[in-house]
Amino acid sequence: MLRLFGFSAEKAKDAPATLTVGGRTLAITFRRHQKARRFILRLGRDGQSAVVTMPTRAARAEALAFAERSSFWIAGQLVKQKTPHHIAHEAEILFRGELHRIIASGGRRGLVVHDAVARTLAVPGDEAHLARRLTDWLKAEAKRDLTQASGRYATAMATRYRRISLRDQKSRWGSCAADGSLSYSWRLILAPPMVLDYVAAHEVAHLREMNHGPRFWRLVLSHCPEARAAKQWLKRHGHELHRLQVKASPQG
Ligand SMILES: [Zn+2]
Repeated sequence: MLRLFGFSAEKAKDAPATLTVGGRTLAITFRRHQKARRFILRLGRDGQSAVVTMPTRAARAEALAFAERSSFWIAGQLVKQKTPHHIAHEAEILFRGELHRIIASGGRRGLVVHDAVARTLAVPGDEAHLARRLTDWLKAEAKRDLTQASGRYATAMATRYRRISLRDQKSRWGSCAADGSLSYSWRLILAPPMVLDYVAAHEVAHLREMNHGPRFWRLVLSHCPEARAAKQWLKRHGHELHRLQVKASPQG
């Protein structure tokens, strides 16, 4: 086969497009690939974007028409993506920003085992109590990470907090009361560690500056250079952390 435009055409960028599916606007980007023999559409994990991979010499208009024809399929995938997550054997959940598979390890009662290499969370005991036990464990891990991060930032910013409590509010990731008490959403343990760190840096900085003025942000950024990226992450993905359905122990 004579390939006249092979390399340069493969590298060429096609202008992105948008597609409205079920009231939602998706950003569509096109990627030409030498080995592609047909159009392939992949939906982004954010549920707001899709990539169409296309043969090197296909027309962008054809690729867009393909995406439009796929609307029904996309709508189905979006519904699936938005289905609330449950804690169950073989289900996958985010833990410190990475997907982990939950395993009911059976046997007698024992501790939840986190395998960072295999990316599993093994929960022993009766499977009927798996959701509650894992939720309790996630909250304990959240408390530990948030206590460590708050302590570290309090030392660095030469301040001190009174106490830490965990909550599960949809409207805020953390708060700082006038009496020096900090409270955080336990769901921050599901997010990448830099996000949890940022929220701790933010609330601890309020112990020094009870506002969001320039001095406050200078303080946060000087101790947490990733603050902007973390803020952006929460804006884009924060809602996903609330999709996990949990069963809490009576004491919360
Ligand atoms: Zn604030």
